[in-house]
Amino acid sequence: MLYQETFDVIVVGGGHAGTEAALAAARMGLQTLLLTHNVETLGQMSCNPAIGGIGKGHLVKEIDALGGAMAMAADKGGIQFRTLNSSKGPAVRATRAQADRQLYRAAIRQILENQPNLRIFQQACDDLIVENEQVQGVVTQMGLKFRAKSVVLTVGTFLGGQIHIGLEQFSGGRAGDPPSIALARRLRELPFRVDRLKTGTPPRIDARTVDFSVMQAQPGDNPTPVFSFLGKHADQPQQIPCYITYTNENTHQVIRDNLDRSPMYTGVIEGIGPRYCPSIEDKVMRFADKDKHQIFIEPEGLTTHELYPNGISTSLPFDVQLSIVHSIKGMEKAHITRPGYAIEYDFFDPRDLTSSLQTKFIKGLFFAGQINGTTGYEEAGAQGLLAGLNAALFATEREAWAPGRDQAYLGVLVDDLTTQGTKEPYRMFTSRAEYRLLLREDNADARLTAKGRELGLVDDIRWQAFSEKMEQIELERQRLRQSWVHPQHNALTAVNPLLKTPLNREASLEELVRRPEMTYQQLMQIEGLGPALADPIAAEQVEIQIKYEGYINRQQDEIAKQQRNEATKLPETFDYTAVKGLSNEVIMKLNQSQPATVGQASRISGITPAAISLLLVYLKKQG
Ligand code: FAD
Repeated sequence: MLYQETFDVIVVGGGHAGTEAALAAARMGLQTLLLTHNVETLGQMSCNPAIGGIGKGHLVKEIDALGGAMAMAADKGGIQFRTLNSSKGPAVRATRAQADRQLYRAAIRQILENQPNLRIFQQACDDLIVENEQVQGVVTQMGLKFRAKSVVLTVGTFLGGQIHIGLEQFSGGRAGDPPSIALARRLRELPFRVDRLKTGTPPRIDARTVDFSVMQAQPGDNPTPVFSFLGKHADQPQQIPCYITYTNENTHQVIRDNLDRSPMYTGVIEGIGPRYCPSIEDKVMRFADKDKHQIFIEPEGLTTHELYPNGISTSLPFDVQLSIVHSIKGMEKAHITRPGYAIEYDFFDPRDLTSSLQTKFIKGLFFAGQINGTTGYEEAGAQGLLAGLNAALFATEREAWAPGRDQAYLGVLVDDLTTQGTKEPYRMFTSRAEYRLLLREDNADARLTAKGRELGLVDDIRWQAFSEKMEQIELERQRLRQSWVHPQHNALTAVNPLLKTPLNREASLEELVRRPEMTYQQLMQIEGLGPALADPIAAEQVEIQIKYEGYINRQQDEIAKQQRNEATKLPETFDYTAVKGLSNEVIMKLNQSQPATVGQASRISGITPAAISLLLVYLKKQG
């Protein structure tokens, strides 16, 4: 049966990528359908209930700057907030929120259900309608056909999902959810490169059976950081602490004694797991010299006793999981509420996507999230937003958009994926960005909100708040630039003791803020020089912009140099044997990935500066 209504955009999957994709397309005014297995699991966190962290927090702020939902839901669901790296420079500071799983899900669902132009439908998608190499819609498990101009697939770990607990295996998308078998089979018929990856999760524990008195409490920061640029402390629920404990030699011995029952170490699992989120058996074997590993005991919510022991993800058999848990200080009598497990699933080589996340082989079909080889809610949400907005642009025959590596971590993420591909679950780090100082959490709105507004992603409320904030910062910077302190100035007697070398000539307030020993807030407290901006976030911007101006300008010069290469387009389907002097290896890599620009080509591993020069010479000759 054909559903009576035709949509502009259909999004399959209501996880982190799917919800951002559907919301983005609908915010842009397109008739959007979100098709998902189960309405109750919209916005479900499959693994640990936490949003943000280093690199990931940056992505969340960027999603927020473009009008997305993740940061707002994290503010409503966060029960322990921290700023990581708070003593380091602003480029690597990152927000992290431990979340109440149910509150987070409820916040996402509320945003989805109140989004104009968006319909939600509960059914598995089993097939795609493809005509003349262009997607036309989807078919559900009960044979219902939905037609649309573009389709975004965000099916997470569900494609051919295979769950492992010890040497037992069963099919599943994640514990308690069915896998996507029919869709996986259909996608394998299409010309995409496909492979398997693996991820895992720890057993969950009943807090009533844990002795917290022997663990170290870890409260959140006070005042609590706020995730969304529109967020308020009043949105945040009650705050509670996490706890820290450790594995020990006994734990490690239990693991070593049972490796012959591990699906990873007996070769049953073939997919590669996340390097930076290894299982406990992996940690014990890889870091054999370590006599303990840290475990964060994280509450799953305010209204449940379940705990998430972060650091003991495992796929060992259940009896071994029990012994591991009972060997740990404070958990000697712990009751496991859910066993840990590993899951293997299909992912598609992201080099078969353009930077808008559209597939190269089927027009109008977009992939986002775990299906592209990434791991993490934030990486998924950011890709979802990008795929959703590009699906909307495609449906309205507008040009695709993706941010550059100098504009956003989202730009770094899609550029890394689509030019380099990935062999293991890809997660974001600040070290992946070459222009870190420009891509800070605190300026994500300055980098992206105007573009979001132009694309139709940013509503009037956000736009007004953003414009007012930018105006305040600009006016204050002008004031600091134009206000001077003279040697005869009254304020000098208060300023000089704060300076390493006293002032013996006139100086602008801006110059004084730039001094390493001085802060904006300190200077503004001096009579006649303040007051400081009342909004602490805008005040922080003024300080960061002034203090780091020199470094920021230097990065901008570098970007300007790079931009020439970035803008030099390469032919769309091109046989690189035509370029004289390229090695066979370079020809093979370029032919395989067909980069869109010289900039992209330069980032493919093994493409040398000499090869880039040959390409430039060739392009010049072709005129
Ligand atoms: P998901 O959140 O998986 O959402 C997919 C959605 O698609 C679901 O709503 C599903 O019901 C729906 N769906 C699937 N197939 C269909 C279909 N055919 N029709 C309709 N709907 C469909 N990340 C980390 O960063 N660290 C970790 O340690 C970690 N461990 C994990 C452990 C496990 C066991 C699992 C399952 C995941 C883990 N993750 C981890 C990954 C994290 O959950 C994902 O990165 C993130 O959820 C991906 O978001 P997504 O939107 O791509 O997919």
